[in-house]
Amino acid sequence: MGMRNQIRIIEGLDKKHLWHPFTQMRDWEAEDPLIITEGRGSFLKDMYGKWYIDGVSSLWVTVHGHGKKEIDDAIKQQIDNISHSTLLGLTHPPAAALAEMLINICPKGLARVFYSDSGSTAVEIGLKMAYQYWQLKGMKNKKRFLSLNNAYHGDTIGAVSVGGIDIFHDIFSPLLFKSYRAPSPHCYRCELGAQYQTCNMLCLEKMEALLKRHHEDIAAIIIEPVVQGAGGILVSPPGYLEGVKRLSRKYRVLIIADEVATGFGRTGKMFACEHENITPDILCLAKGMTGGYLPLAATITTEKIYRQFLGKYKDFKTFFHGHTYTGNQLACSAAIASLNIFNKEKTIRKMQKKIAILKEALAPFTEFPHVGDVRQKGFMVGIELVRDKKTKAPFPIEKRTAWQVCQRAREKGLIIRPLGDVIVIMPPLSISMQELKSLIHITAESICEITGGKNV
Ligand SMILES: *Cc1c(COP(=O)(O)O)cnc(C)c1O
Repeated sequence: MGMRNQIRIIEGLDKKHLWHPFTQMRDWEAEDPLIITEGRGSFLKDMYGKWYIDGVSSLWVTVHGHGKKEIDDAIKQQIDNISHSTLLGLTHPPAAALAEMLINICPKGLARVFYSDSGSTAVEIGLKMAYQYWQLKGMKNKKRFLSLNNAYHGDTIGAVSVGGIDIFHDIFSPLLFKSYRAPSPHCYRCELGAQYQTCNMLCLEKMEALLKRHHEDIAAIIIEPVVQGAGGILVSPPGYLEGVKRLSRKYRVLIIADEVATGFGRTGKMFACEHENITPDILCLAKGMTGGYLPLAATITTEKIYRQFLGKYKDFKTFFHGHTYTGNQLACSAAIASLNIFNKEKTIRKMQKKIAILKEALAPFTEFPHVGDVRQKGFMVGIELVRDKKTKAPFPIEKRTAWQVCQRAREKGLIIRPLGDVIVIMPPLSISMQELKSLIHITAESICEITGGKNV
């Protein structure tokens, strides 16, 4: 069968039977789909044999590149032993070994690992743990959460309840539990109308006001430390996270750090919490955990919280929560292999120079006539396009400007994805200097061609 025929068949099956995530399927049905068949290092190959730079790490997960031998081998070896047995009433070597490795690298004071399979479940578990912790302590009123505007914590109902992106979340509001909302630490579009540096972090003051009034019924603050990802790669000002931690102690509420996106080196440190030296009470991990190979997540907490759940069976202090594939062997083996690569290849140390190069290469973007803001923390980058730089007025939604830029980039051999009119760049940590330069060059060209700015 000819290649074109094969492509037509796959496209037909997809359009007949598939429903894609976060996708307006009417648009999808009208477009030519990009069909991926292979991955190597920083590249993806489509069915025509054309290669593309994977500029968003296959949705923020690929850490050491595609087809990384050590991870491939670890999974193959594990398959030869066993692919899955349950953690309900049984245990196995990869789950236990990985737990120790995670505790050794995550912020000091965290001690217990609860596995699941996605960022959303890691967050649900964190919320339920925090709630039950206070119930068990007899502080029955502490059953609400404080979350942030522009927050994204996943798509299950609990995670959406603490989400703050209205276009995703509004429709589901009748299904959600209520949470208190603090302002987003988003300086380019400060919702309090303040100016960074003269503001003294007014957003923290507002959070404190909420805590002062309501701490008696708040179980925990949930936050994406340092970078609010899906909200548009919003980098919080230095000291903000430390401030949130201070408030959590002052008002006796737990802090849940959702590092699903920021974890495993994304921001230039193993975990974003390290930027401000804080230890959360509960840490949620997923995305990059297996190097981008298999679904695996962890909710990690302190011994103190864990101990509160101990008791006689009949007292029902048990944490009644679990997912069928919790701690799956193949996924744990991939995660172990990924963490070993961090050690062996000094991934975090080696990426520092690339972070600096990226920063330098992004500087000229701020001169483009339609780039309003360029935000970067490590290998998380958001380039916000605006119609008018002075007023920060956006392009009309129906123009899908950033989406057009990403389509243009695709023609030039780069896969990136926008969040609204923010272009997101999130390369594998292993990307080479040359690939990084080519990624930046294509992005710049595509922005200029679509928004009509001068070229670079
Ligand atoms: C992606 C993400 C989630 C949800 O993870 P899934 O694996 O898609 O369920 C939660 N929190 C943050 C910060 C994320 O970026």
